[in-house]
Amino acid sequence: MDIALAVLTKAVESGNSVGFCTHCGTEHLNYKSNAYSYINRVCTVCGRNAVTDAEELLLKKVLPATTTNEKTVFPIIHPNGTAREDLIKQCETVLATLRTVGIALLDAKPQQKDYWLNGKGYAKAADEQYARRIGSVIALVEEFERELEYLQTGLYST
Ligand SMILES: [Zn+2]
Repeated sequence: MDIALAVLTKAVESGNSVGFCTHCGTEHLNYKSNAYSYINRVCTVCGRNAVTDAEELLLKKVLPATTTNEKTVFPIIHPNGTAREDLIKQCETVLATLRTVGIALLDAKPQQKDYWLNGKGYAKAADEQYARRIGSVIALVEEFERELEYLQTGLYST
């Protein structure tokens, strides 16, 4: 049985050691304390050996989507992890620095006079290289903006 992403996120964020039965979907509290004994993997509702840690289920759900089409891999915010406000601060610092890099790159636009002695193709290659550099910074900015939005809203925008 598929447990909804929002349900898993809420369970992990609660810090209450929640497990879910992957067969019937029943939520099991205080799961982690006995996670490794067979008896506690057995669901008290349906009897199947299918209770799984919420964090593990969440990772399985988020990771395939992120690796197949190169979407951003977001950190999971939970009580024992890095605080949300610290992650936001890191993101904002990276974004501010990238904007400075962007401005510096505009100044570093290749001038024809520095390349043409090697032929027209060489100057064109310099322009293409410049476009690639700008594109890399824009891609990074977009990626960190997505991460910042996720950190501020707490939603997985896959
Ligand atoms: Zn069950």
